[in-house]
Amino acid sequence: MAAYSIPEIKKRIGDFPRKNLIHLPTPLQKLENLSQELGGPEIYIKRDDMTGLAFGGNKSRKLEFIIQDVLDKKADAIITWASLQSNWCLQTSAAARKFGIKPILLLFKTYDLPEEYDGNLLLDYILDADVIIKEAKKGKSVRINDILDILEAVEKEVKEWGYSPYVAPIGGSMVGGSMEKPLGAISYVNAFVELMEQAGELDFEINYVLHASGSGGTQSGLVVGAKALKGDIKVLGISVSDDKESYGKEVLTLVQDTVEALKLELAVEEENVIIFDEYIGQGYGIINKDVSEALRLVSIREGIFLDPVYTGKAMAALIDLIKKGYFKKEDKIVFFHTGGTPALFPNKQHLVNFLKK
Ligand SMILES: *Cc1c(COP(=O)(O)O)cnc(C)c1O
Repeated sequence: MAAYSIPEIKKRIGDFPRKNLIHLPTPLQKLENLSQELGGPEIYIKRDDMTGLAFGGNKSRKLEFIIQDVLDKKADAIITWASLQSNWCLQTSAAARKFGIKPILLLFKTYDLPEEYDGNLLLDYILDADVIIKEAKKGKSVRINDILDILEAVEKEVKEWGYSPYVAPIGGSMVGGSMEKPLGAISYVNAFVELMEQAGELDFEINYVLHASGSGGTQSGLVVGAKALKGDIKVLGISVSDDKESYGKEVLTLVQDTVEALKLELAVEEENVIIFDEYIGQGYGIINKDVSEALRLVSIREGIFLDPVYTGKAMAALIDLIKKGYFKKEDKIVFFHTGGTPALFPNKQHLVNFLKK
């Protein structure tokens, strides 16, 4: 039972202004060959890697709202943080530059990635973003507590340079810093609406949406959209870094913030936040043979490249869940391609090692 209609949800999202930065709607395509090869449910792909901003990805949907917020707050610099090869930081830098905002990035080296100009770090360099690199503990993902001190010092310095900075939370997800509303999650409620409109045009009923989940904005938005519009679609988040207990709590909080921001009356329960944490492997950004093979399979069968840190892990999870009989043969699954392909390049050696015959 749908609690709200599409126009009602659109109207509420419309209360949050945004800058037009990307190409929407992103394509929804059927993966005929892959579905056939895996012999299970019908798999569709939502091409959020084709948003068109700086190699595409889910962060650019979020940034349409966040850049507007930066401009509304009369900020002229944006400070944010994430891992060394962060898609979020690249997309933020590109969006910021387009609007004359100075990008300042705090990047954490989370594991054995070389600090060379490759992948997103190269693109950050081309964009002439201010980059500060810090070494994080091995195997740990970046959390706000690790960076609060550094962030404060950076903010102070940027103000001394004469800028008025906007502090954007990692991934554009959790409410915090200068972002008072869950703008990232709201952009993914919008993505869910978009998906429903496309599915309506193609006249099919979706059973599952599956995606890589990292800082929670994507999952929270999709969960709220599903709950508001189509109570029977299950959203499956494949965690790329955190265990499902602690991460599930964060996502649920963000879901509640999003429900509140959109003034919805919805009871979203713990059971609506479905997270798998068994596909993380050895940690955030560390790839393995399953991920490498999932990437190769999709490239060979569909001519589509996934990324090694997020969508490759999510695809490895989808393949495994199909093998384990998690889905019914007649189920229809939408896999969100959330972008991230520049990270293929700094991972070249690992990929080649896993894929060589
Ligand atoms: C950030 C990111 C995700 C995860 O999205 P969150 O909203 O942070 O959970 C998934 N895929 C890619 C490619 C990303 O860059």
